[in-house]
Amino acid sequence: MFSPEHMAAILKALPDPVFILTRSGRYAAIYGGTDARYYHDGSSLVGQRISDVLHQDKAEWFLQEIDKALQSRKLHIVEYGLAGSDVKGLPADGPNYVIWFEGRVQALDFPVDGEEAVLWVASNITGRNELESKLRVLSETDSLTGLLNRRRFMEALEEQFALYFRHGTPTSLLLFDIDDFKSINDEYGHPCGDQVIVGIAELCRAELRQIDFAARFGGDEFVLLFPHTPIDQALQVAERLRERVAGAKLCPVSTTRQGTISGGLSEFLPSDRAADEVISRADRLLYQAKRSGRNQIVHNLSDGKVSAVPA
Ligand code: GH3
Ligand code: MG
Repeated sequence: MFSPEHMAAILKALPDPVFILTRSGRYAAIYGGTDARYYHDGSSLVGQRISDVLHQDKAEWFLQEIDKALQSRKLHIVEYGLAGSDVKGLPADGPNYVIWFEGRVQALDFPVDGEEAVLWVASNITGRNELESKLRVLSETDSLTGLLNRRRFMEALEEQFALYFRHGTPTSLLLFDIDDFKSINDEYGHPCGDQVIVGIAELCRAELRQIDFAARFGGDEFVLLFPHTPIDQALQVAERLRERVAGAKLCPVSTTRQGTISGGLSEFLPSDRAADEVISRADRLLYQAKRSGRNQIVHNLSDGKVSAVPA
C-alpha cells in the first residue's frame, strides 16, 4: 500500500525510538524518536554494539533482556533507568538526569545481518513514574502533619506483625491522644488546635528513629510503632515525648494552656492473633490513662501482661 519511501518516512516519524538489536547486541537500525522533548538523536548508534555504548552492567542487562525476548517469542516488557552519563557517545547537550523507560521488546522472525534480532521500542515513562510516586506519597500521608495516614500505618503494622511472628523480634506500639483537645479548640479556635496537632507531630518526628513509624490515626489521636524495640525501651521514648509535649508551647495564642497527651503502650505478644489485637490493647491502656487523670502513659508492663516473645 505504501511505497518503500513512504514506509521509511512513516518509520522515521515515529515519536518513540525503535531499535533493531541483534542477539549479540548490535544496533542494526534505529527508526523514529522524533519527540525531541524525550530523546537524543540516536542515529549515531547504528553499527555500534551495546557494550560500546553503555557501561558493562547495563550492557549485560540489555543482552539478557534481548535473550529473554528471543526465547519467549512473545512481547517482553521491561522498565529501566538510563542517565545521560550511562550512555557513551551521545551529544553532551542531551538530558543528563535519570530517564525511565518502558521497553517493549519483540523477537523478529527473520535474521538481521545473519543473526537473530529483536525490535525494541523505548518509551520515556519518567513523567508517569514521577506522577505515580507523587500520588503514592499523597495516598499514604496525612495532609495536616505529613505523618503517615491510618491506612498506610495499618499496612506497616501488618508487615511488622508478620515479621514478629516469623522472627520474634520485640516490637512495641504507642497509641496516644491529646488531652482535653475539644476545649483547646473551643477556647482558642480550630486553627490553633491544628497548630497543636502539627507541633505534636514535629515532636514525634524528633523523637523517632529512621526505622520507626509515626501516623496520625484520626482527629487528635496518633500512633507510633517501634520495630526491634522491647517495651521498656519504647517506654523511655514515650515518656520523653509525653514530657516534651507537656513542656512545649504548642498553642501560639495561649500563654497558659499547653497540650498534654495520654497514651497506651503495648508490646506485641505471642498470644496476639492479628495486628488489630495490639491496637485494641493499646486503646484499652489509653482509656485507662485517661481515666487515671490524663498526661500519662499506661503500659502493659505494669499489669504483668507482658510475656516472652515466641521462640
Ligand atoms: P480527651 O482528653 O478525653 O481526649 O478529650 P478531648 O477533648 O481531646 O476529646 P476527644 O479526643 O474525643 O476529641 C477530639 C477532638 O478533636 C474532637 C474534634 O473536634 C477535634 N479534632 C479532630 N480533628 C481535628 C483537626 O484536624 N483539627 C482540629 N483543630 N481539631 C480536630
Ligand atoms: Mg483527645
